[in-house]
Amino acid sequence: MSSLLADAHRRLQEALKYVSISEDAIERLKYPKISLTVSIPVRMDDGSLKVFQGYRVRYDDTRGPGKGGIRFHPNVTLDEVQSLAFWMTFKCALLNLPFGGAKGGITVNPKELSKAELERLSRGYIEAIADFIGPDKDIPAPDVYTNEIIMGWMMDQYNTIRRCICPAVITGKPLSMGGSKGRDTATAMGAFYVISHILPRFGKTPPQTTVAVQGFGNAGSEIAELLGKAGYKVVAVSDSRGGIYSPHGLDIPSIREYKRKHMSLKGVYCQESVCSIVEHEVITNEELLTLDVDVLIPAALEKQITEKNAPQVKARFIFEVANGPITADADTILEEKGVVVFPDILVNAGGVTVSYLEWVQNRLGYYWSLSEVQSRLKERILEETNRIWQIHQELGLSFRTCAYIHALSRLNEAMSARGTREYYISQ
Ligand code: GLU
Repeated sequence: MSSLLADAHRRLQEALKYVSISEDAIERLKYPKISLTVSIPVRMDDGSLKVFQGYRVRYDDTRGPGKGGIRFHPNVTLDEVQSLAFWMTFKCALLNLPFGGAKGGITVNPKELSKAELERLSRGYIEAIADFIGPDKDIPAPDVYTNEIIMGWMMDQYNTIRRCICPAVITGKPLSMGGSKGRDTATAMGAFYVISHILPRFGKTPPQTTVAVQGFGNAGSEIAELLGKAGYKVVAVSDSRGGIYSPHGLDIPSIREYKRKHMSLKGVYCQESVCSIVEHEVITNEELLTLDVDVLIPAALEKQITEKNAPQVKARFIFEVANGPITADADTILEEKGVVVFPDILVNAGGVTVSYLEWVQNRLGYYWSLSEVQSRLKERILEETNRIWQIHQELGLSFRTCAYIHALSRLNEAMSARGTREYYISQ
């Protein structure tokens, strides 16, 4: 089995030691249900034709239609998409959403494409996977380097193919095309609810808590701002090109404004306007991960904390806003060091939870206010956080293992409802 998926499976193996699950469920969860690889021909602006590789994987749909984002990144592989679909399966079960797990991706550096090329690529991807998705089959959404405009193009393309107006086929759409209020900030909002609910239980109040955030995309920049506004001391942030650190705390809104204008944090230090507000040191991404802070938030890509740098991590708490930022080997090292890790399938589940609310609103044809959406998100994510906390109190295991145990029992229930070995052999 490929490496990232094998690594993801190790968490499942760990949880299986503590729950009694039917053999059928174990067998089903070993393999993705469907993995589709497509080639997408795109006419480039210079007249040439380029073919891109795309994927859509439905890992499991026992609890409902597949659900999960679409990633545009140069490192996308089938192995990565399968692992992300595996995590979505557990995330949706953990949050008790009526969905299975899926994921998609295209191997591309979207920063190298013009807007028109990006549109043709997005529409071409839907052309290739249209038979595979649908409001009752598999519902895509945004992920790394995809956004609401891309979701809008994709929905539009699906509608053209199916000759329908089917907003529930994709979530994370622009508001005017059936998107939900609060979806754009949902991942960070969910993480914020979890973090601000958990830290006081460890006796940490915002002004005494220093935070470093790796990744300054949709989720990373938003969580940095939310925590800063709530009084936490956000001392370091970074994007793919590097980061900045100030022990006195950073002014996140002005850094976001800089990034919005210049597309990069690199150079933030030499801009007069920002320099005057923020005094800081320039650091690398690697350095950010090992800073002496209370809370570390990886909000970029997977496999950032491995067995190589885990021994140097000094943070006391890690909240995984990215999917899979810590490898299974690194988990063991962090646990031995006493670092408390809150897992991705809980911490970043705000995104898919509001996607669910978007799907419900599309099917109802009735749209909720921002406060309605946020209170539903808060209620659901904190209910599951409390459940994981309870399992942790009962079993004394890591929060990751407790989250997997909880999700597994829901998956097991749905799989067992279709009949188990015991059922068939009993008289
Ligand atoms: N890409 C996000 C995730 O990894 C959101 C998925 C969704 O909204 O379906 O959870």
